[in-house]
Amino acid sequence: MTERVLAGVPASPGTAFGGVRRLDAAGEIDGTVLEDVLRPAAAARALEALTQSARELDELAGKLRSEGRTEEADILDAGTMMAEDPVLLESVENAVLSRGLTAASAILVEVETVARQLDTLGDPELAARAADVRSLARRASRLASGDAGGARRKTAGDAILVAPDLGPADVIELDSDVSGIALAVGGVTGHAAIVARGLGLPMVVGLGNGVLSLIEGEPCIVDADRSAVIVSPDSARVAAVRRAIAAAREAHGRAMAARALPTVTRDGRFVRVLANAATPIEVRAALEAGADGIGLLRTELAFLEAKHWPTVAEHRRTLEPVLTPLRGRTATVRLLDFGGDKTPPFLKGVHGRGVELLLEDGEEALSAQLEAILETGDATELRVLIPMVTEAGQVRAVRAAIDRIAARRGSRVPLLAAMVEVPAAAVMADRLAPEVGMFSIGTNDLTSFQLGIDRTRPGGSPSHHPAVLRLIAATVEAARTAGIPVEVCGESASSPLVMPLLVGLGVDELSVGAAAVARVRGWVRALDFAEAAIIARRALDAESAGQVELLERPLRALLDDAG
Ligand code: PEP
Ligand code: MG
Repeated sequence: MTERVLAGVPASPGTAFGGVRRLDAAGEIDGTVLEDVLRPAAAARALEALTQSARELDELAGKLRSEGRTEEADILDAGTMMAEDPVLLESVENAVLSRGLTAASAILVEVETVARQLDTLGDPELAARAADVRSLARRASRLASGDAGGARRKTAGDAILVAPDLGPADVIELDSDVSGIALAVGGVTGHAAIVARGLGLPMVVGLGNGVLSLIEGEPCIVDADRSAVIVSPDSARVAAVRRAIAAAREAHGRAMAARALPTVTRDGRFVRVLANAATPIEVRAALEAGADGIGLLRTELAFLEAKHWPTVAEHRRTLEPVLTPLRGRTATVRLLDFGGDKTPPFLKGVHGRGVELLLEDGEEALSAQLEAILETGDATELRVLIPMVTEAGQVRAVRAAIDRIAARRGSRVPLLAAMVEVPAAAVMADRLAPEVGMFSIGTNDLTSFQLGIDRTRPGGSPSHHPAVLRLIAATVEAARTAGIPVEVCGESASSPLVMPLLVGLGVDELSVGAAAVARVRGWVRALDFAEAAIIARRALDAESAGQVELLERPLRALLDDAG
């Protein structure tokens, strides 16, 4: 077989190799109409399958709670409640008895009706529940048609789970021999992706129906860092991937063992390492890996299906579980960054991005979010981060709203930070710095806007291009003059190529994905700041990204040794 590459969207980082294990959409809805005599037994089987599913989910939730994994357990409770819902049980029974559907089809049809209702209610939390409910349908219909194995079926060696889509329960109860996940559809912000990230399982979604024709046992590589699945890889590639996976495992073990050591470079410069998160599961994983706190909370990801600007109550519901574990620690909550590829249905057709959109709404949307942030973040070292800032007036408008709400509530006034992720903000950094308490550089957008490239293109983003590094240097300089710290929260903060340059340019804080926290902490300890500063200055004078790559090779080798 020759090697084939399927392109997708990375939902959980890393690389995995194994044999395909197919988890097909259990029991397709078939057109069978059962004869009258067969219906009572089929109806009983459907109800038993739902009861059995409730039992399984409940057991699984209990196990997770005993391990302290309460957020994952809470996700499963939605499925249990649905499986025990008398209205659903009655409609499934009727579908078999009066319409003659098979047990598996009746479950799939009736649960799908509920899922569609949840989808259309306009509440993002309920819409997220729809995926949980569909996951229940797959489990119960599998049981009803006599397949109790599902994702737990064994293949020899490591397995790559291949499926149309997955529910969070499917991911949570994967056997430990599943090393990666490849999905035909699925979103990066769905619960399954969140659980996969929490578990550190590489996952690529949106691969299209091509992935569903893979044969059970066929070898493949899930490479989330290249946004691809490589089917029937040649032996040289397999050997390279195996070596990389073994090295990554070993390095992760070493990094976790050393996670409590202070993040000080060899020559004594302290660099704070925080984490990026959008969910409680990521916050927990980040704290376990030694993160000093959260350097970027992407609040908009919970509202990508919203039908209106979120209300105070909706913000409160999503913020509370994320901010509660951060008591006494840094919590950098970014205001909604809608727009671009994060445009919810109610903003379709609207131009603008981030703070511009929030302010356009006449302050109501902004006030609702600030009210909830100040309330739920009261016990944290709270920082409010403004996305897509282009001018000082935007900062002043947000500050005025914060001051007004904090005064009314009697809350402490949080530190106000501006994202520097549009070249305009970097160029105007000297004007912005006196208005804020901190800068956070978003190298994902900054690189894309500065170099005119699509940030979602495969192959990563060249944040080490001198044109981007110069914007970062200008931002750091303006921050120094104003006496405020600078964080980098884009993906480059965990890139072995760019991270040493960021440290060398004088960045104070790095905020990285939860799975990268322990590794980046180790990198800080391996670096020599003075050496990184010399190379960073040379990089500013380079004429291309390629030249910078040559320059920083010695630093990179240092990080490779550190893992
Ligand atoms: C960035 O642009 O680098 C950033 C951190 O923001 P986001 O990735 O959420 O756009
Ligand atoms: Mg951004």
